[in-house]
Formats: sequence, structure tokens, C-alpha cells
Amino acid sequence: MFALQGDVREHLRVLTDLGVTAVPVRRPAELEACDGLVIPGGESTTMFKLARAFDLFEPLQKRIRGGMPTFGTCAGMIMLADRVVDGTADQETLGGLDITVRRNAFGRQVDSFEGRLDFAGLDEPVHAVFIRAPWVEQVGPGVEVLARVGAGEAAGRIVAVRQGHLMATSFHPEVDGDGRIHRVFVDLVVSAGSTTG
Ligand code: GLN
Repeated sequence: MFALQGDVREHLRVLTDLGVTAVPVRRPAELEACDGLVIPGGESTTMFKLARAFDLFEPLQKRIRGGMPTFGTCAGMIMLADRVVDGTADQETLGGLDITVRRNAFGRQVDSFEGRLDFAGLDEPVHAVFIRAPWVEQVGPGVEVLARVGAGEAAGRIVAVRQGHLMATSFHPEVDGDGRIHRVFVDLVVSAGSTTG
């Protein structure tokens, strides 16, 4: 669990409830011990600056490129995106997901909103909480779209994706305590050959 910034505690609670050994990661040695990684919501520009300051940027990039299953939510999605629109001039990302995301895409009027979304592989819709969220503007050929906004101004916008061992949502599945999306990720970690996260 990337723990330099963001809503770390909420993710840890959901993962622990699922029976996962989830630990905060602030140092390279702590990352070494992990078989999967969650990057939370928060502020993506602060995240990359802190990752640089704590010498975690390169180790994270290396593990992500090396196949470590990683799940990014909101700012975490931005961190995993190869391309960012409306980022700050010096914004860097870890990359890995062949997607273009637009930061704060939903605009001022709808800074934060909630809704029900169909999510690929889940029988019942999920309750999605968006907080100054990005959306995915463009996806590469290897990217699977897991969810789109169903109705309203942003209808059809892509808000959840997966590409191999990487998964990301624009919204915050850790906020309302429904563990189903985390379960999808934990299954990904387990199928990549391990039982802890
Ligand atoms: N707007 C934030 C960013 O660009 C993301 C918001 C969030 O993670 N809830 O990093």
C-alpha cells in the first residue's frame, strides 16, 4: 500500500477485511516485501514529489514494469497512466497503463458525485464515489475497459480499466466499504502467484 500520501487507511481497512496482509509502504525495503500494490486517492502531483523525495519513485517504476500487480484509485490512476492531460507542467507519473487521463475532468459543478456503475465481471452494479476525479480519455489496444459512467453529462466516460497486471479506477471503491472491486484486484495478485498484498 503506497502510503506517502492519500486515503491510505480506508484502503488498508478494506484489504484487511478481505483477509489480506496489507502494510503501508514508505520505503524501498517495505516495497520489496510486497506482492501487490495499491496506490490510493489523494493528490497526484504531491504523490510523485514525495515518491521522489523518499527514493521510492524508481523502485516503484521498476516493480510495476517488472509485473507487480498494482491498483490505482483516482490520484493512483493518474500515477499509473502513461499520459496526463491537464497535469501540472512538471508532473511525472510512474506509468505502465497505456491510457491518457484527464485530471479533474468532471469539472467544477460536479467536483464530487456518486452513482451506480456496472463493473465488468461483477453481477451487481457498484456504488462509485468520485472526488475531483480524472477520467480516461484514450486507451491503447491492450487496455480493457471495466466501467463507464452510465448517465448524466459524463455518460460514456471511461472510469475503470485493466491492462494485464495493472488496474485503475477514477472513483474511490475504498470509501463505502464494498470490498468487491478490491477482491477483483486481490484475485489478480493471487493469480500472479502470491497470497499477500
Ligand atoms: N484531483 C486529484 C489529482 O489530480 C485526484 C483526486 C483524488 O484522488 N480524489 O491528483
